[in-house]
Amino acid sequence: MTVGLETRLREVLGKKTAEALADGLGLETAGDLLAHYPFRYAQRGERTDLASLGIGDDVTVAAQVRAAVKKTFTPRSGRGRGRGGRGELLEVIVADEAGRTLTLTFFNQGWRAKELVAGRWGLFAGKVAQFRGRLQLNSPQYQLLAEDADDPSSAIEEFAGTLIPVYRSTAELPTWNIAKAVHTVLGLVPDPPDPLPAPLRERLGLLEYGAALRQIHRPESHEYLGAAKKRLKWQEALVMQTVLVRRKAESAGEAAKPYPEGGAILDAFDARLPFDLTDGQRQVGAEIAAELAREHPMHRLLQGDVGSGKTLVALRAMLQVVAHGGQAALLAPTEVLAAQHHRSIAEMLGDLANGGQLGAPPEATQVVLLTGSATAAQRRPVLDAVKTGAAGIVIGTHALLYDGVDFADLGLVVVDEQHRFGVEQRDALRAKAQRPPHTLVMTATPIPRTVAMTVYGDLETSRLTELPAGRSPIATHVVPYTDGRWMQRTWTRIREEVAAGRQAYVVCPRVGDADQKNGGGEDADAVGGADGDKRPPLAVTDVIEQLRADQLSGLRLGLLHGRLDADEKDRVMRAYAAGEIDVLVATTVIEVGVNVPNATAMVVLDAERFGISQLHQLRGRVGRGSHPGLCLLVSEAMEGSPSRERLDAVASTTDGFALAELDLEQRREGDVLGAAQSGMKSHVKLLSLLKDADIIAASRAEATALIEADPELERFPDFAALVDDLAADRGEFLEKG
Ligand code: ADP
Ligand code: MG
Repeated sequence: MTVGLETRLREVLGKKTAEALADGLGLETAGDLLAHYPFRYAQRGERTDLASLGIGDDVTVAAQVRAAVKKTFTPRSGRGRGRGGRGELLEVIVADEAGRTLTLTFFNQGWRAKELVAGRWGLFAGKVAQFRGRLQLNSPQYQLLAEDADDPSSAIEEFAGTLIPVYRSTAELPTWNIAKAVHTVLGLVPDPPDPLPAPLRERLGLLEYGAALRQIHRPESHEYLGAAKKRLKWQEALVMQTVLVRRKAESAGEAAKPYPEGGAILDAFDARLPFDLTDGQRQVGAEIAAELAREHPMHRLLQGDVGSGKTLVALRAMLQVVAHGGQAALLAPTEVLAAQHHRSIAEMLGDLANGGQLGAPPEATQVVLLTGSATAAQRRPVLDAVKTGAAGIVIGTHALLYDGVDFADLGLVVVDEQHRFGVEQRDALRAKAQRPPHTLVMTATPIPRTVAMTVYGDLETSRLTELPAGRSPIATHVVPYTDGRWMQRTWTRIREEVAAGRQAYVVCPRVGDADQKNGGGEDADAVGGADGDKRPPLAVTDVIEQLRADQLSGLRLGLLHGRLDADEKDRVMRAYAAGEIDVLVATTVIEVGVNVPNATAMVVLDAERFGISQLHQLRGRVGRGSHPGLCLLVSEAMEGSPSRERLDAVASTTDGFALAELDLEQRREGDVLGAAQSGMKSHVKLLSLLKDADIIAASRAEATALIEADPELERFPDFAALVDDLAADRGEFLEKG
């Protein structure tokens, strides 16, 4: 039998192992298994830093046996009960190079003392538990290492090398069994053809594919491991960038309808603007205006901190399109935001939004709102206006993507807060236009260059770096929850703001009792519990009762969270915007875009449960008017703890880009890629968007050169196949919707 990457593991491995690999890790073929790279390498004598093990973590550590002690005990429960109700407990103390120890416990397996003798090195795998202040692994799985690496008779062949691969494993399949399976497969599979373009591989001095696969699983040395990683990262980066560059090249060649600069409704709007555009708004506005006037579709990302005035830039772009008979769609991530955009855009336009009504200026258009919760009767006139083209500006949520929403002439798609949308949704909306529409993506999440290059690799980027003049600074302070005086002061400050005629927010991480896990996706970013187990996060429904009865009694409180129905949400937001509610107790539904300039103070409870960028976005809700903003981050996090440091960082600067970099350092790659590039997520195994900025930038340049010289990649069919695969992954996702 010839074995290749596509051979089923069942044909080359034992049935049990093959099944465990398939069921536990989703690995079906030899190629799948070889692409399951070790996530780290253990070393005999390594500094595992046993001190850093977290309770409840599943770990595999390399450590040396120090002592083994047998004890008898009378178990309270059935566990470990031996004959006569007494059991035997074997306690094995293992230590790392630094001398830190870990206790292994085995019940009624005294025979293990024969092999777990002092001096032996082994890999030990299990869940970290704490008992009487000591870290321990209960009944760990283990594999002893060769007693003497020079003595082949006793060497355990799997781990003869100095670098021992540690794989993501399952309870049925410890890492060393995976290593064994990989070893078997590597022995059977001949080196696969190298998919990277040979001239490039040689010029960059990259290891061949087969060699890289062997070295990543069974490294001969640190040098080889480094070379293998570099080679495989390059492949990931180059394939990904080629997909993006090709996509960009393709769409640059597409024909789009041009909308000339200026136009009646835009000029009328500009003439009544009550303030001057910032320099940034002017500059980016000119860029966008010129692109809309071209015969190829614009694909632009507009980055700008909260409050930098992106919406205004987008609105002016929409008006340019409307002025020349086109329509613009604005896609918002939540109904609250869509409704708010609708309100504020209609407000900004004044009678320019009264298209079709008696007495409206001739250049006026209609601005309509389309959300999922509208009834069929409510939708019908809206859908008609969209279809006839009477509605120049169509604002909505995902509902805009549904069948049955037809545009007369969709010329521009604006996507607000892109980090909540995928490329797939963007594509679905684009598909509603007869010709590819122009696309403008707005995000308030500052993104480092290489991340932008990847996540938004098919877009040009613009940045608004200044805030409009007259903005008041936001002061942020961390308030220790346990300090009664500070807490009292916190609520007093809120009362003072309200007494002065202003409004406030109180933000909590959770909705409340009926909370299902993962309900509504409005939970704080998954940073909770960083300081160990404690009470559940505070919930808006509980907190509002408490505040109403006590700290904020007598004030008008409102409740807002993602599980209210859309009408209720809209009613609450309107009441708050109209000043009929003093304090809004809310979840992160208010995170993005909510704009009530009279709101000047925010209290974030359980602040350590939120991510850095999330907190930054949240506090952007206050200080939007001429009064200074105040943000109080209430937390139980101990001084000096990592959670507390994150909060201190947020308090210390209002520079969104600095905070975003910090945030990214603490996030996992998958989160960074997010839903933005679903196919990319599984493709990127080794490459770090943050640490491998140089590889990404270099591969971008190589990909651009490759596509320019050979748009169809005809010279490199193996490479083209990888690129097509990744591109198709995304397509497939699109179809699944
Ligand atoms: P972003 O969407 O970037 O968070 P917005 O576009 O919502 O910011 O702008 C926030 C507020 O600032 C809005 O009330 C808007 O009308 C106002 N604004 C926008 N541009 C300017 C400007 N150049 N000068 C003064 N205020 C502005
Ligand atoms: Mg906004």
